[in-house]
Amino acid sequence: MIEFKNVSKTFRLGKREVKAVKDVSLSVEKGDIFGIIGFSGAGKSTLLRLVNMLERPTAGSVLIQDIDVSKLSPKDLRTRRRNIGMIFQNFNLFNSRTVAGNVAYPLKLAGGSKKEINKRVQELLNFVGLAEKAKDYPDQLSGGQKQRVGIARALATSPDILICDEATSALDPDTTADILRLLKKVNRDLGITILLITHEMHVIQSICDKVAVMENGEVIESGNVFETFTEPQHETTKRFIRSVQ
Ligand code: ATP
Ligand code: MG
Repeated sequence: MIEFKNVSKTFRLGKREVKAVKDVSLSVEKGDIFGIIGFSGAGKSTLLRLVNMLERPTAGSVLIQDIDVSKLSPKDLRTRRRNIGMIFQNFNLFNSRTVAGNVAYPLKLAGGSKKEINKRVQELLNFVGLAEKAKDYPDQLSGGQKQRVGIARALATSPDILICDEATSALDPDTTADILRLLKKVNRDLGITILLITHEMHVIQSICDKVAVMENGEVIESGNVFETFTEPQHETTKRFIRSVQ
């Protein structure tokens, strides 16, 4: 589904080089909830930006459904991006649009009749449990409700992949649990493959099937979550695991 093949990303800042991602190889299979964990600066967000084609790799390739996305034309890129939904730590909602307006936004970009769009928005808001908030504005919502809107918007164009950049990091523990349950429903009921990054091991523990641990741009350990928890190989992984025991 998503394959990183010896992917590196180096940023050049004048004479200085930052190797944000170093020779990463990983396979995310269809239907996985795949977690990437690492401390701040490990290269997690850069890796996600390579998936949604906001960055191009300096070396190696990123394949999505067997297509090398670094070789796409700008037009194909736009089409492919619709296949990938994304949610963020700070929700990134449009504050000047209503809840329904936020969810309708990608549908308007994709084209479609007003009637079709309204029907789809209703369906999405029902799915995330926010039908009664359709006319509210983001600043009238709690953090968890905002993230539900973010999820509805990310699902609007029926993507195959949802990527989540610290999607629960701004939320309290109960709200985090609610959002994680919703993500699980997105995966199970809609068959959407989820790639999420976090610095919280409990997030990995509660919903992921597989995990990769990143440090200084490298994947230092990866495997299924159960095995990684029972037999962590690397000191950094052990530190993350101790944080939830
Ligand atoms: P956090 O948990 O703090 O969000 P992260 O694991 O997501 O961290 P990245 O944002 O991927 O880490 O950053 C990895 C490294 O790459 C950092 O050293 C960062 O400063 C650098 N970096 C990221 N984006 C850029 C950029 N556009 N230009 C220059 N350096 C960058
Ligand atoms: Mg980040």
